[in-house]
Amino acid sequence: MKILVVEDEEGLREALIRTLTGEGYLADGAADGEEGYELICTGLYDLVLLDIMLPVYDGLEVLRRIRKQALDVPVILLTARSTTEDKVDGMDLGADDYLTKPFAMPELLARIRMVTRRGGGSSPDRRMKAGDLILDTDTYTLSSAGSSRSVRLGAKEYQLMEYMMRNADRVLSREQITERVWGHDADAEYNNVDVYVSFLRKKMKFVQSQARISPVRGIGYELEASGT
Ligand code: CA
Repeated sequence: MKILVVEDEEGLREALIRTLTGEGYLADGAADGEEGYELICTGLYDLVLLDIMLPVYDGLEVLRRIRKQALDVPVILLTARSTTEDKVDGMDLGADDYLTKPFAMPELLARIRMVTRRGGGSSPDRRMKAGDLILDTDTYTLSSAGSSRSVRLGAKEYQLMEYMMRNADRVLSREQITERVWGHDADAEYNNVDVYVSFLRKKMKFVQSQARISPVRGIGYELEASGT
């Protein structure tokens, strides 16, 4: 799961990214409302942590713009202002939750789990499915409906598997996969995708899944899961 942190206070932004990364999420930061809005529009994020008091556009303006574009990514508003007006405005504009600064990290993590479970295309429980594949998003365990075997995935394997399962039976380009799993400024080797696909294929075979990751020549890969 990939989270965007839109926060102008650099110290807090970096601390949030560190905490999220430590919890196994992928996280990027944006320092103002305009940059945040542009990154959200890429469609790469599963959740946005959005500060309200921001330079260029404030958080409520960012929220207004993304909902106008019919982007339904879940948003948790963060603000130092604890006035109920902001909260009401934010919820009216389509925020999913609201946290007043200062907040404790465990509280934030609990809210993130709640928000991402109840909407945004994720499954209502912690098990994500595509064809016969089952991915436990709490334990990073991959299994398959037709077998009792299961296997733990590494952090990047998990991010790749989750991304492919969310987009099962659709072609994903190598660029999309690299940007999503390794980030736009990471110094990932271009062939990382092939290496990690081969790891996942071995693990899918081990759990006796009938689903396949097929190469799509000149583009990338497709997880073929339907009918398995
Ligand atoms: Ca701020």
